[in-house]
Amino acid sequence: MSEMFKIKLPDGSVREMPEGSTPADVAAAIGPGLAKAALAARIDGEVRDLNRPFEGDANLALITSRDEKDALELVRHDFAHILAEAVQKLFPGTQITFGPATDDGFYYDFAPAPDRGPFTEEDLPAIEQEMRRIIAADEPLIREVWQREDVRALFEKQGEAFKAEWVMELPEGEPITMYRSGQGEGAWIDLCRGPHLASTGKLDPQAFKLTHVSGAYWRGDQNNPMLSRIYGTAWLNKKQLADHLVRLEEAAKRDHRKIGREMDLFHLQAEAHGSVFWHPNGFIIWRQLEAYLRRRLDAAGYVEVKTPQLMDARQWEKSGHWGKYRENMFVVPDEIPNPEEEGPVITGTGDWMALKPMNCPAHVLIFKQGITSYKELPIRLAEYGCCHRNEPHGALHGIMRVRQFTQDDGHIFCREDQIVEEVQAFGDLLDSVYKDLGFDSYAIKLALRPDKRFGADAMWDQAEGELRDAVVASGRATPEYGWEELPGEGAFYAPKLEYHLTDAIGRTWQVGTMQSDRVLPERLDAAYIGEDGEKHRPIMLHRAIIGTFERFIGILIEHYAGKFPLWLAPVQAVVATIVSDADGYAQEVLDKLQAAGLRAEADLRNEKINYKVREHSLAKVPLLLVVGKREAEEGTVAVRRLGSDEHQRVLSLNEAVATFAAEAVPPDLR
Ligand SMILES: [Zn+2]
Ligand SMILES: [Zn+2]
Repeated sequence: MSEMFKIKLPDGSVREMPEGSTPADVAAAIGPGLAKAALAARIDGEVRDLNRPFEGDANLALITSRDEKDALELVRHDFAHILAEAVQKLFPGTQITFGPATDDGFYYDFAPAPDRGPFTEEDLPAIEQEMRRIIAADEPLIREVWQREDVRALFEKQGEAFKAEWVMELPEGEPITMYRSGQGEGAWIDLCRGPHLASTGKLDPQAFKLTHVSGAYWRGDQNNPMLSRIYGTAWLNKKQLADHLVRLEEAAKRDHRKIGREMDLFHLQAEAHGSVFWHPNGFIIWRQLEAYLRRRLDAAGYVEVKTPQLMDARQWEKSGHWGKYRENMFVVPDEIPNPEEEGPVITGTGDWMALKPMNCPAHVLIFKQGITSYKELPIRLAEYGCCHRNEPHGALHGIMRVRQFTQDDGHIFCREDQIVEEVQAFGDLLDSVYKDLGFDSYAIKLALRPDKRFGADAMWDQAEGELRDAVVASGRATPEYGWEELPGEGAFYAPKLEYHLTDAIGRTWQVGTMQSDRVLPERLDAAYIGEDGEKHRPIMLHRAIIGTFERFIGILIEHYAGKFPLWLAPVQAVVATIVSDADGYAQEVLDKLQAAGLRAEADLRNEKINYKVREHSLAKVPLLLVVGKREAEEGTVAVRRLGSDEHQRVLSLNEAVATFAAEAVPPDLR
């Protein structure tokens, strides 16, 4: 007699299922609709195949396309397998390696057969067609448990050198799962942890697109063979794919590198990989943003500091960054270069210093000057801290991912009883800053303890609880704020709150953070004198609102597509003449605008007005004041607003200046 397992469903009901039965059987027993819709199963929290038998009593949640995050991950993984199967069917002799799901799809790395070069974009349509054929064939995807030696033997027989190498690095004796698609002669098999959908026909053949091909080294090491990486984007249905493709197109139009050129904001060049050359126009945006943030921080009780760029390597050892961060730090010898002709310029015997990759230790060193009483806490230190991190050239991206960046950094040193209040006040400040900067929507996530971490569980329970309490107390632990807890994603020394902005085209960007840290004050021996006269460790709250100026300005450019609100726009108004007779009047208009504090220019060139309009529109100037003979006589200006359908509006000069000056006031000063 077979044993019966108790399978508990999310609604609390329990079903008795005989040994050998599967989540698919439960779905079928509930109803044919669910049997069809079910994609996989969550068993005691772990996502598994629908056809994998229960191993005992279990909590079961069936995953359908309504569980979008899980469903997307599953289908993207399936598409990667189908891509590999299709490529091997079409191009015999191609070796497979790995192919994970990505944020918007999947990729797979192949070693092309020796007689053909790397794959190109021209190969993609045929591969897509073959993938659709495999989906139409509705091949079952079957999980099998193998022994390591057998897997190696199979891959060696098939000429799969990469997979054979890899499998021998998996722990010996542990069973390995293989997934077989199709049956009999035509079956295709790959090493995979799973899970997978029950069959290829569960995928929507119209919900994916192969997008591009690039080179990638085997295991990311440039001493290894170069592989061909084929990328695709994949979704649950055709509409999601279409929406995504529109988003990509829209994102390309908003690319901050393109708009940065059109508006003459900044440039990058190889002589300073990953460091930005800010042009006057771009630095106006920076200065406006910095001045705005400074006013907000001053009002919120922060004090601003400036700390050294270079510090002795031993200081970084103490703080723990040397061990963990060494490869990302720029190191400089503390030595006077040899002025003589002979011998090396740098002997290498001097002490090592490093450019700071972060400001935290320096702020602790400021805190440690003198004796601090509990009555002085909290102390909120802010710094527009310029930091350097060494990133590979390939990882750099415009001004969004750079090697020199300036953070809107800050550290709050406080007592335990002040944490919740401080975190809550920070959340309120951040909320209002994001709204001022034009972001109506953002999500708050709590990243919880990772597997590898410092400190006892009790410390983590407390630290996570404090951050959670602060968000709950502010009323933002709601779906409207995308509130979510992310197990395992905290830093190794502290849990953190993450703030993710949603931009105008629905993309999300993590910019703000708040971490409560009990480790660094301990490592660097920071203390305050408590009410009891004893020494106590302060808590250190690491916090940032915009993250870095470079990346945040990149986000602003793409969010606004360069059409900045007036207070941030580099050039706010251009006075353009229709005829040279109006030059004198144009100068008068310009003087009045500038006297009212507006960043204005005059365009007196002998060009057609339509030409001038086009040029200033491309440069995203928000206000164009057109003046001709009539405006000069009547003391008016004809105003064209960037991106407005309204053709133009005639205003008296005084009214125009007053209106624009009011509109250009930063949001916190209105
Ligand atoms: Zn797989
Ligand atoms: Zn910090």
